Amino acid sequence: MLFEDAITVSTIVAIDGPAASGKSTTAKLVAQRLRFMHLDTGAMYRAVTLVCLESQLAPQESPQLTQLLADLDIQFKTTGADQCTLVDGRDVTMEIRSAEVTRQVSAFSALPEIRERLLDMQRRIGAAHDVVCEGRDIGTRVFPDARFKFYLVADLEVRAQRRLDELQLAGQQPSLAAIVEELRERDREDSTREHSPLRKAEDAIIIDTTGLTIEEQVDLIAAHVETRLQQGD
Ligand code: C5P
Repeated sequence: MLFEDAITVSTIVAIDGPAASGKSTTAKLVAQRLRFMHLDTGAMYRAVTLVCLESQLAPQESPQLTQLLADLDIQFKTTGADQCTLVDGRDVTMEIRSAEVTRQVSAFSALPEIRERLLDMQRRIGAAHDVVCEGRDIGTRVFPDARFKFYLVADLEVRAQRRLDELQLAGQQPSLAAIVEELRERDREDSTREHSPLRKAEDAIIIDTTGLTIEEQVDLIAAHVETRLQQGD
């Protein structure tokens, strides 16, 4: 395959883990520190879900879904420290974080047709750039040969509290109990699906972020990668 060879020339840092384990913020800051691209694959699954919902498609195979995926254009635009997600040139950065997309994304992500399409896009990006790539199947499926693999975990209550803080900052007022339930359900769906379930790669380093600050978890990962890159390992 064309991009299999190219993957080995880029440096890939794979970060996987359950919902709200701190992957996005960590991956973004690690990427800035290493001067790598940040690839948020969750944003891609959310973008597809948004487009499917707008087209009133159910999470199941259909000719309409096939057509939608054939036409799908997802891009990332980086401005300073911020990254926007664009679908057909439209900025959907905020919309893909809506409660409705969050509620439905795991059902759409379980469809093999959607996964194959995004897998192709993700591998092309990884072939062209050094990336810090975060998601659920990065170390196991997207980049099984990634040079660096991490698996972030944290207690459910701590994850829920962090997500609540984020949502409150964004002006939403969900209850902590509702978030605990949403995270539990999404993790269950993501880890029990047939295709590329959420799973720790055997060679991934586990980082429990329960008692860590963002700075500490960023430093753990970035320092590990920097040391090995300097040593030429
Ligand atoms: O990371 P985030 O919580 O934004 O991901 C949203 C959803 O996208 C996950 O719950 C999962 O269903 C799906 N996803 C996936 N594979 C990835 C990244 C995300 O199935 N690599």
